[in-house]
Amino acid sequence: MASEFDIIRRYFTRPVKRALLGVGDDCALVAPEAGAAFAVSTDMLVEGRHFLAGADAAQLGHKALAVNLSDLAAMGAAPRYATLALALPAADERWLEQFTQGFFRLADAFDVELIGGDTTRGPRTISITVLGAVPPEQALRRGGARAGDDLWLSGASGDAALALAHLEGRVQLSGAALAHCLARLHAPVPCVRLGLALRGIASSAIDVSDGLVADVGHIAECSGVAVDLRYAALPRSRALRACADARLAQECLLAGGDDYELAFTAAAPARSRVEALAAGLGLTLTRIGSVAAGAPGLVSVLDAAGAPMRLERRGYDHFGGGESAAT
Ligand code: ADP
Ligand code: MG
Repeated sequence: MASEFDIIRRYFTRPVKRALLGVGDDCALVAPEAGAAFAVSTDMLVEGRHFLAGADAAQLGHKALAVNLSDLAAMGAAPRYATLALALPAADERWLEQFTQGFFRLADAFDVELIGGDTTRGPRTISITVLGAVPPEQALRRGGARAGDDLWLSGASGDAALALAHLEGRVQLSGAALAHCLARLHAPVPCVRLGLALRGIASSAIDVSDGLVADVGHIAECSGVAVDLRYAALPRSRALRACADARLAQECLLAGGDDYELAFTAAAPARSRVEALAAGLGLTLTRIGSVAAGAPGLVSVLDAAGAPMRLERRGYDHFGGGESAAT
């Protein structure tokens, strides 16, 4: 049976690249970068809560890092370093091999260096901390949305939630639609390049992890503004458009979560710059609403006639009641 130190040496120790000192000492050493602040974020995945027992280890390694890189993207930070705290029920080398394969493939794609962590026995839990670099005055905060700004969304929301609904037997997907949605659930690609390109353009940004309306609500709250979201303008994947259950499709679109797209605001005169960067990066950016007059923190989803839609409360629980609730 491999010891804790065998595991660290075998699976987590790689030659240092950017770091001054990596895995193996009491601390890693990283140098500050001129003009930049470190953006730091932690996200944890717990078995039974964020993933099922028996989940594919390589996909877990990818996703655990991807959700963290998504936070850096939403801040406009360039990925630099990661630490990995891992609790495992047993020293399962097959699992470790696959997990690190998924982790390092994504880490290499985004030039992230694993510089430390902790390994212990316990219920399977993956906690990653990422560090990125961003000039502090260019960081994309949640609080910068201003009256008149456009609200934009990258890609489309709802597909990961639709995959989950399929796995739970609430809908039946097949073929290309199923493959597309499962990939969106298990192998999200963080919008790192978009986040970097939005420096100096976006007035605020957030990554969509808890559901589109809930996360846009965070921008509204932090910025002290109201936001109108135009339901008909929301981008929908082919799979979501083909979903026969209209109620489920709406729920996935507005409240599904696990999308890891970026929602951001930008002043209306920046519209052509946003469109140009979408073309340059080869991705879809859609104007889905605007910062509106209304109670601070209020997100309204408007129908085609411009009237606020009444939404099911379920799925918005973490978004809370009262003034900040979606109408
Ligand atoms: P300490 O007792 O000082 O916390 P550890 O024995 O926990 O040290 O870890 C030894 C070294 O291995 C440290 O540099 C630590 O950062 C690194 N390390 C431990 N677990 C991991 C892991 N899962 N991923 C990356 N590095 C790790
Ligand atoms: Mg330790």
